[in-house]
Amino acid sequence: MPTYYKKTHIVLHHTLTDRDTTTFEAVNNYHKNLWNFKSSLGYYIGYHYFITSDGKVYQGRNDWEIGAHCTQENKNYNGIGICLTGNFDNQQPSEAQKKSLKMLIKDLMAKHGIAKENLKFHRDYATYKSCPGNKIPKDFFDKILLTENNNQNKTMKIIRQNGGQDCYAIDKNNRRNLIVNWNTYERGIAMGLWGSEVEVVENLEQFPIGNIIILAPDN
Ligand SMILES: [Zn+2]
Repeated sequence: MPTYYKKTHIVLHHTLTDRDTTTFEAVNNYHKNLWNFKSSLGYYIGYHYFITSDGKVYQGRNDWEIGAHCTQENKNYNGIGICLTGNFDNQQPSEAQKKSLKMLIKDLMAKHGIAKENLKFHRDYATYKSCPGNKIPKDFFDKILLTENNNQNKTMKIIRQNGGQDCYAIDKNNRRNLIVNWNTYERGIAMGLWGSEVEVVENLEQFPIGNIIILAPDN
């Protein structure tokens, strides 16, 4: 039986190699030679996720698995390692990388109940390193996650199932997008948001499932 580790943190890394030519296969081989530590998915890469400059997301390890990316403070056990190709001591992640990272982080936060303050850099634990690069500012995660078009959200209709707690924003494609709190990931907190009335509906299933909307602090 494999051991399942509860994940409470996300730890961001860079490869410290060329952003646009570094491949998943190259880093997977590099780590194979270093540790030969095979994941349940059949890869050797120490990160759970890997994002190339074209925005493609690779998964090297199941979320619940032990990683090999940050030896400090138990982070190989309770942290999900995400690595972007690039050397961000000298350059910036590509727009495609940032977009994919945002989607991935939102997804992982929702799946594992990871709080916003637990989005971390490798250098937060390995203080002798710059990883994920000096060009990645302290408020990088805030900036990434707040690129949501909040004005668009404000025009959405807010609904709640009769008797239910969760609130959803209905977008222009009629999908229901679960609204959660930015800091706590708490649900059911959309009353009176954006100046909108919450409409109570009898049948939530009439709206196909959309995304998760994280409420920004300035909302
Ligand atoms: Zn790192």
